[in-house]
Amino acid sequence: MFDSVKKELSRRALLYKAGFGFMGLSVVGAVGNIIKPAPTLAQAAPAPSNEPSLPPEKKLGWAIVGLGEFATKQIMPSFAECKKSKLVALVSGDRAKAEKYAQQYSVNPKNIYNYQNYDSIRNNPEVDIIYIILPNALHAEYSIRGVQAGKHIMCEKPMAITVAECQAMIEAAKKANRKLMIAYRAQYEPYNLATIQLAQSGKLGKLKLITSDHGRNLNPKEPQDRWRAQKKLAGGGSLYDIGIYSLQAARYITGEEPVAISAMIYSTPNDPRFREVEENVNFVLRFPSGVLANCSSSYGYSNTKRIQVFGSDAVLELDPATDYYKHRLILKSKNGNQEQKIEDKNQFALEIDHLSESIIQNKQPKTPGEEGLQDVKLMQLIYEAARTGKSIKV
Ligand code: NAD
Repeated sequence: MFDSVKKELSRRALLYKAGFGFMGLSVVGAVGNIIKPAPTLAQAAPAPSNEPSLPPEKKLGWAIVGLGEFATKQIMPSFAECKKSKLVALVSGDRAKAEKYAQQYSVNPKNIYNYQNYDSIRNNPEVDIIYIILPNALHAEYSIRGVQAGKHIMCEKPMAITVAECQAMIEAAKKANRKLMIAYRAQYEPYNLATIQLAQSGKLGKLKLITSDHGRNLNPKEPQDRWRAQKKLAGGGSLYDIGIYSLQAARYITGEEPVAISAMIYSTPNDPRFREVEENVNFVLRFPSGVLANCSSSYGYSNTKRIQVFGSDAVLELDPATDYYKHRLILKSKNGNQEQKIEDKNQFALEIDHLSESIIQNKQPKTPGEEGLQDVKLMQLIYEAARTGKSIKV
């Protein structure tokens, strides 16, 4: 199992090094005048966003499982911008809510399922792909039931709570010969792709340091934060929820896997929000090339989503880095500060279409189950490093 994960991850690293991180993505042609990336393999390939939309009958059919905050406010509206994907089914424990959204998105009410009759989705040929947008602890069960019903799966981050669950998801998808993709939207978002391209192009000189900070105030009065404060449903605290973006950034910007990890955790004593899950996590990663990454996550300060890349000759600052829209990228060098103008694109539509495209072309998606497993493995090591106070060799 771990050999195949290693093989998959080193394939990805090679693709990134070749500039293939841009493959199939709208950033080609979207980069403004200031950045002129060197020609890459990706630029030789057609970008799906420049392709015409498929006719409705050729688009792949998607079912959404879990009609919560993220699904209803970001994902469902994004289907309007998809060229290869259409929303055809909903899975919810709340029939009235599902009917309301079915009407809004022209989903046939016969394609509304609940958590009990979910498995009968196997008999619905309109559904090709199921998108799991449930609390973290339910990702494994609903992904596995989904592939066993013969459907391809997109699963939200974090992939699952434990390494064993991630492995079971990968095995189940393999056995059913279905694709499994983890919804790492930042890996489909043009500003993050430009950051990878610039960092790996040598334009910053030799890479030395990445800092990546993700923070927000947990508010368990909001329904979507209620389960996040419960270890059983969330799996972890700020690290599992948003620190995963810091970890991802360090991995996709270097295109490498860390070889050593150290970490520290602190939660404000007597703050009821942190009875079960942690507040602050700081971790340091060392990569084979010598790049260090100082990463953090917090549930205790106001919205922060910032990435910085320090090279021997120049520095990149992406802030906001992993927001839904409106990113800002600044290149700081001896020529001063230059804002990099890149056309914002709907990253959700891009990632959704990426999985449809991978299925149509029978290719491995760029962020498969192995990518989600690697993050869960590393997050477990971060917890261990914090618990033991020792630097851990990966
Ligand atoms: P949410 O609470 O708003 O939505 C979860 C949905 O699951 C709700 O509709 C809820 O009714 C349903 N549900 C079913 N069984 C449940 C149970 N046993 N307990 C609680 N809820 C249950 O949460 P959300 O913010 O939409 O997050 C859902 C998933 O999406 C999480 O895995 C989260 O990490 C991920 N997410 C990803 C992003 C991103 O940018 N990629 C952003 C937000 C959330």
